[in-house]
Amino acid sequence: MEGLIFDIKKYAIHDGPGIRTTIFLKGCPLHCPWCHNPEGIKPQPEIMLSPERCIHCEQCLHACERGALQRRSDVIALNREKCDRCGVCLDVCCSRAIEQVGRHITVEQAAEEIERDRVFYEESGGGVTLSGGEPLMQPQFTRALLKDCKKKGIHTVLDTCGYADPEILQEVSEFVDLFLFDVKIMDDEKHKHYTGVSNQQIFYNLRTLSENGKTIHIRIPIIPGITDDEGNIHMVGTFLAPLQHIDKISLLPYHRAWLMKHRKIKASNEPWIADTPSPVSLTRIQEVLETCRLNTSIGG
Ligand code: SF4
Ligand code: SF4
Repeated sequence: MEGLIFDIKKYAIHDGPGIRTTIFLKGCPLHCPWCHNPEGIKPQPEIMLSPERCIHCEQCLHACERGALQRRSDVIALNREKCDRCGVCLDVCCSRAIEQVGRHITVEQAAEEIERDRVFYEESGGGVTLSGGEPLMQPQFTRALLKDCKKKGIHTVLDTCGYADPEILQEVSEFVDLFLFDVKIMDDEKHKHYTGVSNQQIFYNLRTLSENGKTIHIRIPIIPGITDDEGNIHMVGTFLAPLQHIDKISLLPYHRAWLMKHRKIKASNEPWIADTPSPVSLTRIQEVLETCRLNTSIGG
C-alpha cells in the first residue's frame, strides 16, 4: 500500500509531545489562503522552481521535449499546462533549482523511517505525527501506518482539518493517541468562502471525537482580517467550552514564512497577505476565550 507524501520531518518538537517524526501527506480538501504548507494542497506531485538556485546552464530547456520550460528575462519559467511531470528536467538540473514535490512511499518504507528514531521517542515521550495536507484524504495508508505504529507501541498523533467522512475518521481514530484539530471560522458562509468547504462536517467530527473520549489539542489559526475578529473568537469559545477531553488550546499566529513556497509552487489559491498579529491583539483574543473559561497558549 502506498501513500503520497511531500516531506518527512525528523526531530519535530511542535507536532505533539516529545521528539517526533512527522510525515506530511499530500492533498487537502481545503484551500486556506494562509496555508503554511501550500505544497501540500494538491493531491498529486508538482514541479517546484527555485530561481535563486538557477545557474543559467539551460540544460533543462534542451531536455524538455514538451517545451514547457522557457527563459523569461533572467529566470526559467514553467508552463504548467504543458508540463506532464515526466521528471527529465529534474535529472539534468545539477543545482536543484527544479524539484518535484510529492513522492510515493509504502507503509513498510515509512515504518522503516519511523523505526530509525525510536530511541528519541522513548527518551522524550515522543512518537509519530501524520500531518499534511490532510492525512484523512489517504485513509487506507494513514490507517495502516498508524495501526503499525500502535502495534509497535509508538505514540501516534493525527494533525487534521477535520473535513472527512465520519466513518473514515472513526476507523482511523482507533489508532490515534492524540488529535491536533484546527478550528478556524464559525460562520459557515465565511468558512466556505475562505476554505472552499462547509464547516458543518468538521464540527460534527470534532464533537464526535470529544464524545468518544479521544484526546484533542485544538489549534486556532489567528489570521488578521479573517479569524481574529471578536465575534468569531467568541463563537469559537462558545462552541469549544462544553467539549470534553480537550487537552490544550493553542493560538497559531499568522506569519509569512510560507509565502516563498507559495510562489515556488505557483499554488492556485490566492495567498492572504497580512501583518503578524501583535502581542496586544493576541492577548485580547486570549481574554475573549477566558470569558468562556478556556485557557490558551500562543504557538504550537
Ligand atoms: S537546468 Fe537548473 S540550473 Fe540549469 S537553467 Fe535549468 S533550472 Fe537553471
Ligand atoms: S517535468 Fe518533463 S515536461 Fe515538465 S518541465 Fe520537466 S522535462 Fe518538461
